Amino acid sequence: MIEMKVLVINCGSSSLKFQLIDSDSEKCLAKGLCERIGIDGSMITYTPEGGEKENTVTPMPDHTEAIRLVLEALTNPKTGVVKSLDEIGAVGHRVVHGGEKFAQSVVINDEVMAAIEECNDLAPLHNPANLIGINACKKLMPNTPMVGVFDTAFHQTMPEEAYMYGLPYEYYQKYKIRRYGFHGTSHSYVSKRAAEVLGKKYEDLKIIVCHLGNGASVSAVKNGKCVDTSMGLTPLEGLIMGTRSGDIDPAIIEFLAHKENKGIDEIMSVLNKKSGVLGLSDNLSSDFRDLEEGFHKDDANAVRTMKTYCYRVAKYIGAYVAAMNGVDVICFTAGIGENAALVRSMVCEYLGYLGVKVDEDANHKRGEDIAISTADSKTTVMVIPTNEELAIARETVRLI
Ligand code: AMP
Repeated sequence: MIEMKVLVINCGSSSLKFQLIDSDSEKCLAKGLCERIGIDGSMITYTPEGGEKENTVTPMPDHTEAIRLVLEALTNPKTGVVKSLDEIGAVGHRVVHGGEKFAQSVVINDEVMAAIEECNDLAPLHNPANLIGINACKKLMPNTPMVGVFDTAFHQTMPEEAYMYGLPYEYYQKYKIRRYGFHGTSHSYVSKRAAEVLGKKYEDLKIIVCHLGNGASVSAVKNGKCVDTSMGLTPLEGLIMGTRSGDIDPAIIEFLAHKENKGIDEIMSVLNKKSGVLGLSDNLSSDFRDLEEGFHKDDANAVRTMKTYCYRVAKYIGAYVAAMNGVDVICFTAGIGENAALVRSMVCEYLGYLGVKVDEDANHKRGEDIAISTADSKTTVMVIPTNEELAIARETVRLI
């Protein structure tokens, strides 16, 4: 990689996460978060490498002001990590939905901005916010090259039989209703890293990645290409998540609308915000630290939730073994995948037919790229901490 400092921006509707990454050492030089943008009580959190975390409450009426404060923090004479903005060679932006237009990351220009805007329909909560972040950066750093890295891009290699729904074909033709998948940057990073750690060729492996965070998805990566993934048109499909339902019978929507006298918007809000492990545990928690604790105390809500959650993950793994006619490596990643040893154990209990044997000592280690299966396990099971920011920085440097 060429040496440069890359600012990675992940912009939401009222928040903005950032990291400054040195492409040579691949170290994070500083990171932070702007919260409550456009709302009372806006706050910026900034942590330089090896330094103390600073919280500053300061007005941020819009994203341009948020980015201005980020740049000010990065160049602050005392706690900043660069002398001037000229040291920032490029900006990498996370963009949620690239539709069918983007199978790769791209250098952002006017044409690309227009194409991202055309995908707004597919991700009305996310894409407009991503565009606002890009525009704010362009205003303040007009001469710095910018790259868009899409959550959906890695999954664009899925074959038609994996991405089509059993719906009237005209809806695909008219509205591009199909499965897209998300967390692509993470699935790509983790599957590549697994091959690297094992010292095997990426193109020779069949890998299943379980990205289990607040949002969660599984993907099947065969010979270096994604062939299926559990999220669909939106990030609501697939696994049971923190607060999202994942797969349900679509007829439940009508059933509930009648019984509870609710409109579509309210039902969708239940499916996105009040379901998942939070809803299933009868509001015990959406956090697996609480659910694990409850499980060990035999709390009925926690036991039901853990069992149902892990069963769904195991079922998707089975589906992807079928899709790839086998599997060599199964990877766990993201907040739950990296930290919840109990979830990994419970999922692996279903995988005896793959010859999976878990080494429980390794399974209880934290924070490293590690195999948690025994040496004689027929399928390798690994924990690979994800690093989407680094993946975005690498893509940015590759394209600049
Ligand atoms: P993410 O979206 O990848 O940041 O994952 C966030 C989720 O990871 C949290 O909601 C927790 O459920 C889970 N998590 C984080 N740390 C732990 C931990 N030490 N043990 C179990 N679960 C954890």
